[in-house]
Parts: sequence; structure tokens; C-alpha cells
Amino acid sequence: MPTPRQRSRSLRRVKVKTPGGVVKTHYRERKPRHARCARCGAVLKGVPREVPSKLSKMSRSRKKPSRPFAGTLCSRCMREEIKRRMNENA
Ligand SMILES: [Zn+2]
Repeated sequence: MPTPRQRSRSLRRVKVKTPGGVVKTHYRERKPRHARCARCGAVLKGVPREVPSKLSKMSRSRKKPSRPFAGTLCSRCMREEIKRRMNENA
């Protein structure tokens, strides 16, 4: 029987094969939810689903696409937003 804190579902269970060939259950923290577009709510591609401690070790180019509003808007909404701003100024 696992210890009481391992019986909780707040930790995810990962099956890990040890060097001896035995499959054991490891308990790891859950990842945060996917980053979503602020306008349409679509899942943002190219934005990793990781905890901040792992994100800090990643390079900038691995964390989000290199375009305006990256990590906030999806590419389609970004295009619409830029067009809207262009029309406003014209
Ligand atoms: Zn969007």
C-alpha cells in the first residue's frame, strides 16, 4: 500500500521501467494547463506545457514562437488584430 500522500490524485502516476526490468509507479507533480489564445481560446501551438522551474531552463526560442503577440494570441487572431490596428490608424 502506498503512503497516504501517494494515494491522493493530486500527483500523477508515471510507470517507469527500472534498469532491472521492473515496472514501478513513480509519483510526479502535474503539469500546468495548455496556454490558450486570449481571444478565441484555442490551444497555442509552440508553447510548452511545463512548470516555471523547467521553463526557466529553456531557451527563449523554445518557449514561444518569434512573432508579435506570441504566447498570448493564436496566429489567426494575431493577423486579425494587426489588420484591425492598421485600419484604425489609416
Ligand atoms: Zn485565437
